[in-house]
Amino acid sequence: MRVLFMGCHPDDVECYAGGTVRKYVEQGAEVYTGHVANGCQGHVVIEPGPLAAMRAKEAEAAGKFLGAKEVFNLDIDDLTVASHDPAVMDEMADIVRYVRPDVIFTHNPKDYMRDHEEASVIVTNGSFCSGISHRPRKYEPFSSFVPVFFMDVCGGLGFQPTHYVDITQQEEMKLKAVCCHESQVKWMMDHDNVDFCEMVQTWDKYRGYQCGVKYAEGFKPYNVYQRYSTKNLLPD
Ligand SMILES: [Zn+2]
Repeated sequence: MRVLFMGCHPDDVECYAGGTVRKYVEQGAEVYTGHVANGCQGHVVIEPGPLAAMRAKEAEAAGKFLGAKEVFNLDIDDLTVASHDPAVMDEMADIVRYVRPDVIFTHNPKDYMRDHEEASVIVTNGSFCSGISHRPRKYEPFSSFVPVFFMDVCGGLGFQPTHYVDITQQEEMKLKAVCCHESQVKWMMDHDNVDFCEMVQTWDKYRGYQCGVKYAEGFKPYNVYQRYSTKNLLPD
């Protein structure tokens, strides 16, 4: 099985689906992760250029720690993620053509900030465009109709999962992967007085209560034409 997780910021996949990434890897799937934005505005002191470089390394370390084969970076500056940009759409489509996934994960179309929402559209639209021949491309066309799951939103507000993955056995590794994003652990504490890892663990515990396990991650499928499947695509 081949799985693609594409978040907005360099730490989003680990926060919202890091346990599921790890569970897929443990069950033998080929997992690819990535981020659309470079996270360049994610600090109060470090300048955007050096921060983007730092965060690319943090994402690489976190993804590889969880067992991802590759970590993609579309390298778009924070607050300028734009789903109407055809170049970004084509680049995303090429990632899908390259990975040729059985299932894709991205943000919910409604989330707490615009870049997450734009990234969601870039990923679903890029997936659709991966099946279109007459667009600029590096790889052979794939399928326009890969099933997609939307990841939980920040704080779980306004998002009711319909699918849960038990990540009790993966929670420890997930939190270590989150901590690979050292710049964010510090920024969240300095800027928001929030313990990043404790926050993520609380979300997982909350979703775990809802489905009767210690820690869980919640998802919702993208229920549109031909994105349904007869297969159980989430890890048991
Ligand atoms: Zn984010």
